[in-house]
Amino acid sequence: MSSLLGIPASAGATYGKFFLLTSDVPMPTPAKSTLTAAEEKKALDEAVVIVSSDLADRASRATGELQEILIAVAEIAGDPALIEEAHTHIDNGDTAAYAILKASELFKDLLEQSGGYLAERVSDVGNICDRILCQLAGTSYPEIPQFKEPTVLIARDLSPADTTDLVPSQILAIITEAGGPTSHTAIIARSLGIPAVVACQGLIAKALAYLGQPVGVIATSGEVFFDPGPDEISAIENQIEKIRIRKLAQQQRSSAGYKTKDGRGIPIYANVGRFADGEKAVSVGADGVGLLRTELLYLDQKVPPTLEEQADRYTQIFELFPAQKVVIRTLDAGADKPLAFINFGHEPNPALGVRGYRTITLHEELLRTQLAAISLAQSRTKAEVWVMAPMITVPQEAQDFLDLCREYNLAKSGVMIEVPAAVFHAEEITRISDFVSIGTNDLGQYLHAADRESAALAHFNNPWQPALIRAIHQIAQAGLRNNCPVGVCGEAASDAALATVLLGVGVTSLSCNVATLSDVAMTIGATNYEEMKSAAAAALSQHSATDAQSMARKCLPALTELGL
Ligand code: PEP
Ligand code: MG
Repeated sequence: MSSLLGIPASAGATYGKFFLLTSDVPMPTPAKSTLTAAEEKKALDEAVVIVSSDLADRASRATGELQEILIAVAEIAGDPALIEEAHTHIDNGDTAAYAILKASELFKDLLEQSGGYLAERVSDVGNICDRILCQLAGTSYPEIPQFKEPTVLIARDLSPADTTDLVPSQILAIITEAGGPTSHTAIIARSLGIPAVVACQGLIAKALAYLGQPVGVIATSGEVFFDPGPDEISAIENQIEKIRIRKLAQQQRSSAGYKTKDGRGIPIYANVGRFADGEKAVSVGADGVGLLRTELLYLDQKVPPTLEEQADRYTQIFELFPAQKVVIRTLDAGADKPLAFINFGHEPNPALGVRGYRTITLHEELLRTQLAAISLAQSRTKAEVWVMAPMITVPQEAQDFLDLCREYNLAKSGVMIEVPAAVFHAEEITRISDFVSIGTNDLGQYLHAADRESAALAHFNNPWQPALIRAIHQIAQAGLRNNCPVGVCGEAASDAALATVLLGVGVTSLSCNVATLSDVAMTIGATNYEEMKSAAAAALSQHSATDAQSMARKCLPALTELGL
């Protein structure tokens, strides 16, 4: 037996035979072309057309989140800027294959520098380039085969296109050496309900050494066992049984509101980025929406959405939640979420630049149109609409936003706290706001000066970092003093154990991703408020994320019973 530890990306446990996906792509050399530039360009253009139409085809076969990702990937493959860059290299004497490799490298660098969501596209560009290289060399791209029996899929990384034809029932688990918890592999695995572990260092070497042997996975903790022994198999079976029982219990759960074991009501909302998420939120029994990320509705739009267009979009989503709360966030544009209809200019450090509320104040008309659209949608539906602004830094910004909301008849307005300065202004901000919502994803990255998308700095962005929990504690206590509800809508609220700690430090509501909402709700329902306070005190006094997590877990016996 030999074990490895990766990052949990989609919960579950399993064991069985594995398939190792190798990436045999013909790598071009810098040797100069013997053909004319026109011939090289023709070969390249033909290969690009074949690859982009294959990707578009895959997009049409896919559904949901995977389909959206694949449509974007097909667009990158046909991006004239990529082809033009490659043509320039061909004009300088390169072969089509070497030219597209160089052009892709440049694109990857540019995307990496932008960070965030755009950095996610780096692996897409790499995969598109691999597909074009195979096409140019006349070899077939290494696809995942159709498995005859359920199999664990092991790969260095998986591109969205690789996963188009996966039959979920035939995939026991996915393990990759690359990727992070927000990578496409993780998103797709979660949406298909396949257990997954990513960023598992040394995976490929180990898989090569254990070819033909079984592999075991406890994806909930990121453990991978090659040739597992009886102890590991029984731990895995134990975990599988707990998950089976939990899933059964989830189906029986009513959506009549959530309570701690000792009866304290805790609203649990869902994070929503598009209409389909809203539908899922309803189906998992969310109490409403705690974060509607409006910028995600307009990522592909070239011109600003009109007031009517926006009002229609918001109305559709609000209608899913009659008499329930929907917290809608004004556009959080900039940095990793650039919107094509806003000119951001060049910024050396976009994450510390004009983004969120800062962007929108420079384009006041956009903010006013959006608030008018929200107000109109609110008047058309029965949802209880609350509005908030992202990236508020100082109390004056909060006050300006709240005043503007009043102009548009928006009765409940608040702000996100996700910038460290706002933590130190929490007393004033919670005094003037109707509510605040903590964005732990950004607050974690800014507190630790560590890009939230960086795999190398992932440990700083672990939401169990005591500095982050202490900051949340300060905000929650300010909220309690000023009678201002304090929610958490960052990913920290989607971790069942951490969610109880957040409640223990004084947070009054949670907003989770729809995939883990039921687990969070079950953990809360099985835990007393006093246990949450003890877990919070234990976490607050630690100096590392690992200690905070393990000390808090000791106070939360329900987690082990639920297999979480
Ligand atoms: C956050 O920063 O935690 C948050 C919820 O906002 P986003 O992830 O959209 O930046
Ligand atoms: Mg944020």
